[in-house]
Order: sequence, then C-alpha cells, then structure tokens
Amino acid sequence: MSKIIQVMTKFCPECGDHAWLYVEEDKFLAWERGDLLVTQAFPELTDDEREMLLTGLHGVCWDAYMGPEPDDEDEYVDGWDDTYDDYDSYDPYDIDRDMYDAY
Ligand SMILES: [Zn+2]
Repeated sequence: MSKIIQVMTKFCPECGDHAWLYVEEDKFLAWERGDLLVTQAFPELTDDEREMLLTGLHGVCWDAYMGPEPDDEDEYVDGWDDTYDDYDSYDPYDIDRDMYDAY
C-alpha cells in the first residue's frame, strides 16, 4: 500500500484559488515523471479532480471558464422574452377603447 500524500493543485485560472487532493505518492511521482497518464495514475479521482491536477481549474469553475457563450445566449433569450412580455402587455385595443371613452 503506497503512501497517501496531499498535493496542492495549480491555481485555478477562473477563481485564482487552488485546491488540495489526496493521491497515492507512488502514482503521483510516476505521473509527474510521465510514466503514467493522469487517468492511469488516478483512476479513483473524478474527472473534475483530474482536471484540477492538470490545470488547476475547479469543476465548479469549469462552466464559467469554458462556457461564456451559452451563458450569454441564455441571457439574450431571457432579455428577448422580457421584451416580448412587455409588448404582450401593451395592448393597443385598450388604448383605443380609452380614446373612445374620452370622446
Ligand atoms: Zn476555481
């Protein structure tokens, strides 16, 4: 049984913070030497954790870092919906009726 060590990940490019991971020392050293791929060295880690080892990017920061376009698109759709609702509540017939009442 190889020793478990705590390693600090790189700083996350999204939030600037880092994280700690517990890994087997032998495998970590083998991975650092390039003897093992990250998936071979740390099969017990999640994809997010392996990504943190490689780039420092947190799983929760991944979407914000990689996906600004879908987020913008969502906001655009929401904005369009709001505008549409405004047009919907603007009922020209109401105004016409008010004008007739005034006469
Ligand atoms: Zn982060």
